[in-house]
Amino acid sequence: MAVKNKNVFDFSPALESAGHIQLKDQYELFINGKWTKPKSGKYFKTINPSNEKVIAQVAEASKTDVDAAVSAAEKAFNGWSSLSGKERGKYLFRLARLIQEKARELSVIETLDGGKPIRESRDIDIPLAAAHFFYHAGWADKLEYAFPNRKTEPLGVAGQIIPWNFPLLMAAWKLAPALACGNTVVLKPAETTPLTALKLAEIIEEAEFPPGVVNIVTGAGATGAAIVNHPKVNKIAFTGSTEVGKIIQRATANTDKKLTLELGGKAANIIFEDAAINQAVEGIINGIYFNQGHVCCAGSRLFVQESVHDEVIQKLKARIENLVVGDPMDKNTDIGAINSKSQLETINKYLKIGKEEGLEMFQSSCSVPSKGFWCKPTIFTGAAQSSRIVQDEIFGPVLAVQTFRTIGEVIQKANNTPYGLSAGVWTDKGSKIFNLTQQLRAGVIWANTFNKFDPTSPFGGYKESGFGREGGVHGLESYLKFND
Ligand code: NAP
Ligand code: MG
Repeated sequence: MAVKNKNVFDFSPALESAGHIQLKDQYELFINGKWTKPKSGKYFKTINPSNEKVIAQVAEASKTDVDAAVSAAEKAFNGWSSLSGKERGKYLFRLARLIQEKARELSVIETLDGGKPIRESRDIDIPLAAAHFFYHAGWADKLEYAFPNRKTEPLGVAGQIIPWNFPLLMAAWKLAPALACGNTVVLKPAETTPLTALKLAEIIEEAEFPPGVVNIVTGAGATGAAIVNHPKVNKIAFTGSTEVGKIIQRATANTDKKLTLELGGKAANIIFEDAAINQAVEGIINGIYFNQGHVCCAGSRLFVQESVHDEVIQKLKARIENLVVGDPMDKNTDIGAINSKSQLETINKYLKIGKEEGLEMFQSSCSVPSKGFWCKPTIFTGAAQSSRIVQDEIFGPVLAVQTFRTIGEVIQKANNTPYGLSAGVWTDKGSKIFNLTQQLRAGVIWANTFNKFDPTSPFGGYKESGFGREGGVHGLESYLKFND
């Protein structure tokens, strides 16, 4: 494989040694264990959103290429599913170890391609991706203990479609359980962030997976749709917008494809007057500004009990002034680049709506680079339940603040949303936590913390945030049929 060192990036001083990062000028499709040119001959560019420079050309898979990938996965299924769980586990352990070994390279590529701060890629995304493979490698030979006295079988070919906010981590969330259970896969990364999935394909090659077990096809929405509509695909796992989730649900409604959807969110982060306020302020910051707010479970609706509202807002504003916004490759950066021009346009549209609705807007006074896509950390206070800033998923560093007096009121307001992915509760009282976790309609509820993830714990939504769980024993269920 022709790989060359490509030192076209302006690495920040902290990472000048990142010159050993190996990226190609052009990436092909990974089908049946081979790097395959797209039949149409079409390629698209992936850019670095912090400086708008082109990083590489990436193949655009058409329906014909998806056909080839599905055929390869179908052909590989018998061999892969009849391996012993222990053997499948060995491949997954090897993959997990290789991800750890290449963690630095993967972190840099993730940050270059997607704009997230290198500290987050390095400390969160890549280690969690490895952890996800380790965890599922452990399940591969223990499925009979996960589901005692039940006869399980893998589903066949899994079509997996992932978004741009956690590119490698979402690939791991999809691939690890599917492979551990004995399925083969066709995975499509998002158009703006294909590079770590392609790097993962190189690692899969290095780990000597049998050809066709994992196929990675790049492209935009049409490539995803070709996977969804393919008659030989037995399962679809999708993470992305509620809008596309609904299209996929309609497309699979009349088929026997098994479906899991992980969609948008608008999480309530609830601060009671008895909370440790300084700790809660850190939790609010992490809840909404982590990964520029490009997080489906972001704590984008803040509910503060009236008696501590002024104190919380004052501390929050002071804290926002200290956030470092800028070069994602600098390890001191807290808030990196917005993932794409179109996502920045969406966020800016909402900033305008918030102002037009008469909400009070506060932004950090920091400056941002002239090139690239940037949004300063933003707070809207005095938001009403009916505000679009409160109702719509913005998917950016924009927080809507509301107040409440009683527990009953905050539960009612927090649940008054079409979404139900996550929530956060900050209080000194265990009984309050218990009460809220029973009554909030959200798949994941954090108490006195936020945005914590672990492969052992199931993740997924209620209502329009989707269905099915990823992670834990529950996540395995989505990749098995039960013959009893
Ligand atoms: P999206 O359009 O739903 O994209 C998610 C994935 O689906 C991408 O790989 C996308 O391809 C693909 N796709 C697009 N149209 C498709 C179709 N008709 N059939 C099958 N696959 C299709 O989401 P997005 O544009 O990346 O982000 C838009 C909004 O989605 C965000 O503002 C946010 O509200 C939400 N979102 C949620 C999550 C989450 O984790 N829950 C993550 C990301 C985004 P391309 O991207 O290559 O076109
Ligand atoms: Mg990119």
